[in-house]
Amino acid sequence: MSVLDLARAEILALKAYSSARTEAGHASIMLNANESPWPPSATAQDMRYGPLNRYPDPQPRALVERLAENYGVDTDQVLVGRGSDEAIDLLVRAFCRPGVDAVAIAPPTFGMYAVCAAVQGAALVELPSNAAFALDADALIETLPQSVKLVFLCSPNNPTGGCTPLADIERLARALRGRALVIVDEAYIEFSTMPSASALLKKHENLGVLRTLSKAWALAGARIGCLLARSEIVALLRRIMPPYPLPSPSVSAALAELTADGHALMQQRVAVIVAERERMSREIERLPGVLDVLPSRANFLCVRFADAHALYRCLLGAGVIVRDVGRYPRLEGCLRITIGTREENTRLLDLLIRQQVAA
Ligand code: PMP
Repeated sequence: MSVLDLARAEILALKAYSSARTEAGHASIMLNANESPWPPSATAQDMRYGPLNRYPDPQPRALVERLAENYGVDTDQVLVGRGSDEAIDLLVRAFCRPGVDAVAIAPPTFGMYAVCAAVQGAALVELPSNAAFALDADALIETLPQSVKLVFLCSPNNPTGGCTPLADIERLARALRGRALVIVDEAYIEFSTMPSASALLKKHENLGVLRTLSKAWALAGARIGCLLARSEIVALLRRIMPPYPLPSPSVSAALAELTADGHALMQQRVAVIVAERERMSREIERLPGVLDVLPSRANFLCVRFADAHALYRCLLGAGVIVRDVGRYPRLEGCLRITIGTREENTRLLDLLIRQQVAA
């Protein structure tokens, strides 16, 4: 039994497209990919972008190495994609047969798991959690339908901000071995003090971890995220990726950031955001009209207001956009507020105080 026995038979049998870059790599004269031999205009050909007339490496070695080092895994355990969104989509397509298999999520949670499942025609199984939005791992293990092939756990969870203990993740992975993959989405983990589940990858073949450069690393526009998983899962998903998924300018931007200096800056900024999150949480909690501030380990706060709609409109009128998450189950009246700069946060606080006093 291998974890790949859980994948769709059609995908296992698929003969992957073989790109010019994969087949032959680089040479001094490149006549194998129907590219232009000239770089584009001087403006576009900023050397920071890499050689734009050439197709990029499907999985650029330097980037894979830096990410592997940053996340403490082997290079063959890294699949780089266009944001972690792409990895979610690839996992669902590779493991879930339309009309047969299912994806499990713990609502309220990040919306893309359900969207990818719907696009693939995979059923959605909703896992129960307690009043504090914590999963009951033992109940889950006992009741999980056999059709579930992927369990997505978002930790810290978007939009509630809480974490799933590593011990629960490990128990789940062990219990679901041979049945389903447990995918831990750690998009916001840099803002928490939680250890990454990637330390468990060697022990559990059915575990995967999603990481992204879009949040703490400030590179949302570059669209670089990855799946960390067993090398055989990485190799399987590469077969269903388009031939050249990563634009060269994005790869260059990520490499420019993933340096010792970039890492130090990222950590410094994370510390500021965490301090601001705690300040905002304390300040918001004591405002009239605030019913609840969920404890958050991420770069946002989920706040329940007596009149979220009026507040949302008032903030928007003052040029401040927050996210209305009231449509999520059990989050009626909640707004998700991303932590910004100190000045931005103070401006938001002023508006909240003014609105609550007026109400
Ligand atoms: N996972 C979670 C929990 C998220 O909140 C997001 C973005 N909002 C993503 C994944 C996707 O991030 P990206 O595609 O930018 O890596």
